Amino acid sequence: MANYGFPLSSGVENSRVTSPYNVRRAQFNNRIHGGIDLVANSSWVTQFSQPDLLATIGGTIYLVKYEANGFGNYCVIRGVDGYYHIYGHLKTPAPWSVGQTIQRGQKVGDIGTTGHSTGIHLHYEIRQNFADKATRLDPCQLLGIVNETGPVQTTGQGAFIFNGGSSQNDGYQVAVPYDYTYEELRPIADSLQSADRLFGRRCRIIVRDDDGAAMDFTNLHITFQIVKTYLMDIQYSVIKIYNLSRDSEAFVLRKATTIHVEAGYEGAYYGEIFQGDIIQSFGYWENGTDFIMEIIAADSERFLNAGFIANHMERGMTQRQAAEYITAKASIPAKINSISDGLKENALPRGKVFFGMAKDYLQQIAGNSEATLYMNNGEVNLIKATDLPKDSVLKLTPNSGFIGQPQQTELGIKAKCLLLPQIKVERCVQVDNQWVQERQITLGSLQTKLDPQGIYKIAKVTYTGDNRGSDWYAEFEAMSQSGYLPALLANSGGNPF
Ligand SMILES: [Zn+2]
Repeated sequence: MANYGFPLSSGVENSRVTSPYNVRRAQFNNRIHGGIDLVANSSWVTQFSQPDLLATIGGTIYLVKYEANGFGNYCVIRGVDGYYHIYGHLKTPAPWSVGQTIQRGQKVGDIGTTGHSTGIHLHYEIRQNFADKATRLDPCQLLGIVNETGPVQTTGQGAFIFNGGSSQNDGYQVAVPYDYTYEELRPIADSLQSADRLFGRRCRIIVRDDDGAAMDFTNLHITFQIVKTYLMDIQYSVIKIYNLSRDSEAFVLRKATTIHVEAGYEGAYYGEIFQGDIIQSFGYWENGTDFIMEIIAADSERFLNAGFIANHMERGMTQRQAAEYITAKASIPAKINSISDGLKENALPRGKVFFGMAKDYLQQIAGNSEATLYMNNGEVNLIKATDLPKDSVLKLTPNSGFIGQPQQTELGIKAKCLLLPQIKVERCVQVDNQWVQERQITLGSLQTKLDPQGIYKIAKVTYTGDNRGSDWYAEFEAMSQSGYLPALLANSGGNPF
């Protein structure tokens, strides 16, 4: 259980609640009180003067602001618990800058009566989502005090209470500080409009056969739904090409084996989103007017389902070398894209005969190190959920990227955004918590907090496109990266979904 500090330096035994949480107050137009008001006992004030305001939990300074008709000088801490802790009516602006780290028990500022206030007191309020007052929490429940006017009484329930001064954040798994590099996504002109214009969208579709012959269908009407994930279930992608010629139809039906899709927008946000093996193609008429060639494809389908290995490997090879060997020597070979640095480095104690599916051996190697095997555009990746990002972290905001509001999920977030090739499996995105719609959670349960740094690793992407219609977006699911890695991920080699 979390340990929250008491926010006044006068301590629990020398303080009073002057206005409880969630009551209507006549002197404030009968509005609901969103926090609790606290003061030091007058005898304590006489002896020691006014108390200091102390951080109830460590975190990051989120806001230092003045509002004449509201909280006056106020300071908001984004706690390591993921909540926003508001300190209102400070005497002077809090001596903190946004982004600074504050420890539990450190002084936030001086108690005061600025803003809409009738006397010196602290207004302390907690919200799950700073922008949404409906997400307020009962601060008394977290502090473990009784929500009643009068001397502060501890409940012994819920959170453990102590008097401020400690700088420990025990009870929390604090995010590992890591120096991420960020890439700010620039807004793309007109990208969010929808009508029958194309708004600088761009895509290219090429189908190839095994002899290297290729056909480019970019100029035809094309729709696609492409799924990429590091789940090892085969994920089928569907690409429809409208009204292709008889020759093209024959090529797709009889000869084509692979399909390649590039998509995005004119400029920097364009690139390959899919390269896969064609599993099935068939043509049909739609509404009697359009002839549609539907292509079902999957990433690395042939390597996964027909890549066979029958070789002998010398003793002394590392896991990494074994993975490289198997991938290269399979009857349908592939390339390695990336192998986690977290792969165990123990070498083969003796020579080994490989005879079976390359995929099965690669999965064994992955399993030995609690890693995951996944294929991306025909290449092998062995990754661990805890791997640090290789690319810069892509910052997404409602002005640049998102369509609608991201939602919190059990293990992270899911979101819909512009169709950008940069949105891809294993890429990390940074999403400020204030944009995320949080799941309804039980008070006191901490396992599904939003990532404190707002960093998530993409585990699944679905690209939906129509080069003559309105659909042009990517939907992704991403996992909390640096904060509260769920126990199931930390302890098992299983897939995160
Ligand atoms: Zn108040």
